[in-house]
Amino acid sequence: MKLVNLKDASDAVSFSEAVKKGLGKHQGLYFPTDIIPFDNIDDVLAMPFVERSIHVLKHLIGDELPEALLSSIVTAAFQFGAPLAKVSDQIHCLELFHGPTLAFKDFGGRFMAQCLANISKGEPITILTATSGDTGAAVAHAFHGIDNIQVVILYPKGKISKLQEKLFTTLGDNIHTVAIESDFDDCQQLVKAAFDDPDVRDGLHLNSANSINISRLLAQVCYYFEAVAQLPIEDRAKVVFSVPSGNFGNLTAGIIAKALGVPIKRFIAATNSNDTVPRYLKTGEWAPKPTVATISNAMDVSQPNNWPRIEALVEQGYISKDILMGEGVDEEYTQVAMRQLASLGYVSEPHAAIGYRSLARSLTEDEVGIFLGTAHPAKFRETVENVLGQPISLPQALADSVGKPDFSVDVENSYEALKKHLFATLR
Ligand SMILES: *Cc1c(COP(=O)(O)O)cnc(C)c1O
Repeated sequence: MKLVNLKDASDAVSFSEAVKKGLGKHQGLYFPTDIIPFDNIDDVLAMPFVERSIHVLKHLIGDELPEALLSSIVTAAFQFGAPLAKVSDQIHCLELFHGPTLAFKDFGGRFMAQCLANISKGEPITILTATSGDTGAAVAHAFHGIDNIQVVILYPKGKISKLQEKLFTTLGDNIHTVAIESDFDDCQQLVKAAFDDPDVRDGLHLNSANSINISRLLAQVCYYFEAVAQLPIEDRAKVVFSVPSGNFGNLTAGIIAKALGVPIKRFIAATNSNDTVPRYLKTGEWAPKPTVATISNAMDVSQPNNWPRIEALVEQGYISKDILMGEGVDEEYTQVAMRQLASLGYVSEPHAAIGYRSLARSLTEDEVGIFLGTAHPAKFRETVENVLGQPISLPQALADSVGKPDFSVDVENSYEALKKHLFATLR
């Protein structure tokens, strides 16, 4: 597979290089030079999920990873399914929250971790990242138990929910969690300082494993195939996907799936009040506003970092902008949508509810709608209980982790203190 940097065409890399580097020169995103559609899409859709995902990823990545290796990577990463739940006559939810951290990020995170572990061929790597909750858990679970990769996660002490904290601080082994006595912005500053410090960057072989890594996107393409495969054949070409979006990785993956030949009629880019993209699709003007906090906080992004990849997909003719619609849903209607879903017998959380709302408003009679269930309702338990006025039970894995001891170490908000801690624990 060949990829090029969208900010500098001379920066062309292989899949392995793109996975190891994450971002290219000038912070540019890597993008595949060719996306070749399947000529036997119905046969591909007929395959079982894991086998099909290996086939799709092999088609995209090519010979760079031997088939047996790719097969073991995908099998290790995709240990849970992506079932389609029927919500009403015309509408389904693609449930992407059956992984260990109850959100779709488990698919991309686990595939990236397995790729990195295999591509680095045993060289030691340290993943250093800051989290305000969600990404930390997905990264921690994805890398837990992988040889030669140490993970250090910084988070603001006392500023994330106990439940979220338990999800990643109770793993131990190669997962090191550090509670910084400050806020999330300071955690991010400490991570930046470490990447800027050659002693630490080179001495500990730092890698960011962040959300723009190409391996995540490719993994996410697989569940769009799985969604359409679960529909009756006569419904396939009528599919509208509504994608609750923040950084727009999920929507990018959906468009790549369409470029590969999955029959999809159109997409809805659903956001909360941070609606830069819906406004842009209506007016043609890119005008981000300051980010506002919402109950769908994983989508509180006003400058989505994957958008240039979507522009590239449009410019290179893989899809027409005409089949891309945007819709911003405010706080009030997010809650209305959660209640509507509950009245249909489907308990959901704010992110997925935004997908449902945008879909239900625009779906025509001859279409079939799928909104992505990006997180399990228990992950946003407090909000869901407040809005619906009914108790939400925890899935077993989460309930179990609540009772486990946590391995976090407190460190003051000082780069020198963090550096000392890193060398003391990792060397
Ligand atoms: C990350 C996240 C999103 C946004 O996904 P993007 O790929 O960044 O657009 C939506 N919902 C949940 C629950 C998330 O964790």
